[in-house]
Amino acid sequence: MRKKIIAGNWKMNKTVPEAVQLAREVVEATKNAACEVVLCPGYVCLVSVASAIQGSHVKLGAQDVHWEEKGAFTGKVSCAMLKSAGVEYVIIGHSEQRTYFHECNETVNRKVKAALRAGLIPIICVGETLQEREAGRTESVCEDHVRGAYQGLSRQDALRTVIAYEPVWAIGTGKVATPEQAQEVHAFIRRLLGSMYDSEVSAGIQIQYGGSMKADNAGELLGQKDIDGGLIGGASLQAQDFKGIVLSC
Ligand code: PEP
Repeated sequence: MRKKIIAGNWKMNKTVPEAVQLAREVVEATKNAACEVVLCPGYVCLVSVASAIQGSHVKLGAQDVHWEEKGAFTGKVSCAMLKSAGVEYVIIGHSEQRTYFHECNETVNRKVKAALRAGLIPIICVGETLQEREAGRTESVCEDHVRGAYQGLSRQDALRTVIAYEPVWAIGTGKVATPEQAQEVHAFIRRLLGSMYDSEVSAGIQIQYGGSMKADNAGELLGQKDIDGGLIGGASLQAQDFKGIVLSC
């Protein structure tokens, strides 16, 4: 039985005091959560949010990481730095990174390997654009993203990862995939993992859905057989909205 994970990706929102306030509200609002709850604030807020959630059920995540261990990489943050701040999860390959910051399968793969070496759990984002969906390429794009991210990973390592299926056309647009559309792709990704590894890996990896998930559509999405939680952008910025999703699990 896979435990569901609801992760809030705060993106480039919230100053340090705002992030601390929101984190405290989320701890309080989600006390009775049946799922894993993860907050991913901006880098500068990590340490303060770690203190705000300390001793609670809420876990800390980061929005990206660099693959090198240390050195002259101005502006970048390493896995060891994240670990030392109390981070347990890290989002890798988000479509905004792929679109705006030249993220590609190779850099995703390097980051995933670095995260696993450091004992962080990567949340690996995959998903097609609207153009790709309309061209009938949803499965081939997702397959390319998944194969690229897992290149060279052992089954033990694969079992320590999480995937977020995020159709790019549904991110921040209010256009949510129907539960059937999402389930179809989740099932495809699970079959793919089975063919890349084995049935235990296929059944063991949590696959979140991301893309305009809100309290009023979360229940149906999360009720699908292969949907194991959500990666939430906009609706994670208010504790009450986020609570509505967490309590749908
Ligand atoms: C995201 O950016 O991962 C996301 C799913 O955003 P939103 O919930 O705002 O669509």
